[in-house]
Amino acid sequence: MSDFANRLIAWQKIHGRHDLPWQNTVDPYAIWVSEIMLQQTQVAAVIGYYSKFMQRFPNIASLANATQDEVLQHWSGLGYYSRARNLHNAAVTIMDEHKGQFPQDFEMIQTLSGIGRSTAAAIASFAFNQVQTILDGNVKRVLARHFLVEGWPSSPKVEKELWLLAEKLLPEQGMVAYTQGLMDLGATLCTRSKPKCSNCPLNGSCKALQAQRVHELPTPKPRKSIPEKHTTMLILRRGDEILLEKRPSTGIWGGLWSFPEAENSQDAEAIALKKFGVTAENDITLPNLTHVFTHFKLHICPQTLQVVKLNPQVNQAAHMWLNIEDAIGAAIPTPIRKILLSMQKTSLGY
Ligand code: SF4
Repeated sequence: MSDFANRLIAWQKIHGRHDLPWQNTVDPYAIWVSEIMLQQTQVAAVIGYYSKFMQRFPNIASLANATQDEVLQHWSGLGYYSRARNLHNAAVTIMDEHKGQFPQDFEMIQTLSGIGRSTAAAIASFAFNQVQTILDGNVKRVLARHFLVEGWPSSPKVEKELWLLAEKLLPEQGMVAYTQGLMDLGATLCTRSKPKCSNCPLNGSCKALQAQRVHELPTPKPRKSIPEKHTTMLILRRGDEILLEKRPSTGIWGGLWSFPEAENSQDAEAIALKKFGVTAENDITLPNLTHVFTHFKLHICPQTLQVVKLNPQVNQAAHMWLNIEDAIGAAIPTPIRKILLSMQKTSLGY
């Protein structure tokens, strides 16, 4: 076994995390859900969502039998909603093509929606004790520092180098502690800023530490200015109800409920009539809001409209009228919830 693996396993057993809600189980479903939630979200934020999600969908069958809308509702606020759609699709696939049993074959696991090589490795090692390496963002950081690997870790060339390195380090046994150790070290000691090298079990061999280059690694992503987009969101109000529109199933916030959109507030009344058969008058413009996605910034101008008359025969779009409390509890993206919560605190919340 590599010295790297030896020291990591020994450290994990004493100093690692042992009581997270998705640990101490070999149920691949419970591990899979946690791995997907943890892909772009911090542990502390995942814990509450995970428990509620597992209560409502305790096994693959219950997830597969739910509607996508209900799954999205339980994901609402976690962001990166394609994760929830993929999770649901994969559960259906497991029921249809694998007789409801989570596949054990490493290649087969990777054919499921939303499961890449690193996630498959985490499931395979935790649930099936297979010798497979993970390589998520935290592990890339640990390896880039420990072995002084230059270059942005997610570029194809550097990523390939890191996969090869990670494979060479694998122990023959103790996979659960080793995989968990990699995760724990990246999350608790070898952190992005202020790493705690003096407590690290790998500090005797860490090349970045020896070269005093810890803070330079991993090499950051080459900077590109991210595009900015603008949208006007129409908050149609009828009595104490607000109109939500279902977004297309793909793209940003796919399948979630949101406000209808317009290019600008001048178009708002025309769009309300054309799309929803609603004669409405522009009301208050709420403060603008900026939401930052990975690839662009979205500037939202929320425009409220008072409904004067409904012409339901013109109605085509998938939409629903909800009071503000129910709208806040629906499968909606975070910025929409922020707007509704800010309305709730004012006279607009009725
Ligand atoms: S010594 Fe510091 S930089 Fe090196 S692996 Fe440990 S925490 Fe990371």
